[in-house]
Amino acid sequence: MSKEPTSAGWTQARVALDIDSVLAETIEACRRTAAAQVGRPLHEVTFTGDYYDSFRHADPDVQRTLRAVVPDLWEQPQTLLGARPLPGALALARRLAADGRLAGYVTRRPARVEALTEEWLATHGFPRGSGVALRHVGDRQECKSVSALELGAQILVEDNASEAQSALSNGMWAVLVDMPYNAHAAPDLLRRHRGALRLCARTAEVARHLW
Ligand SMILES: [Mg+2]
Repeated sequence: MSKEPTSAGWTQARVALDIDSVLAETIEACRRTAAAQVGRPLHEVTFTGDYYDSFRHADPDVQRTLRAVVPDLWEQPQTLLGARPLPGALALARRLAADGRLAGYVTRRPARVEALTEEWLATHGFPRGSGVALRHVGDRQECKSVSALELGAQILVEDNASEAQSALSNGMWAVLVDMPYNAHAAPDLLRRHRGALRLCARTAEVARHLW
């Protein structure tokens, strides 16, 4: 595929969707689980904007507990099943599926939570079944674009700038749903991959780049 896609390509190519922070408000769900685990009100636990050092509490003792529990929170049923679909996410997936353009879902989650992901997709009515795959790549030492290409996708919708970068390097196009943790990378990505990268402030804006 050309690194300089035509506008028609954007409106016809098959698409792979990331799940966390593209379809699901997983960070908020994780924050709720974190607050419950440390026994503090939700408003006292704040998101840092850093995906890998995610939450803060003003009390140093609570903060220490928070640091200890957070790594496990991302895989807990309370988090993964409790995450609400982001605005526009369901409509995006259904419209892509209706047009035969939804290659599937590609997530950095490990394979051991696949049943939870399947349950979440089904609960909220996300398209599955014939031709719509689900890939968990968390246990693999490879970027999501490898799986996305295997599924026949030409476009990856992603919130992680590194995954978007690797998709672009592998000849795909990418829609990056911008997040605080991308602030350092997004301007440079846009400069180097103009034409093959679209930037959106939120999932609800993704559709206008794909039709
Ligand atoms: Mg994500």
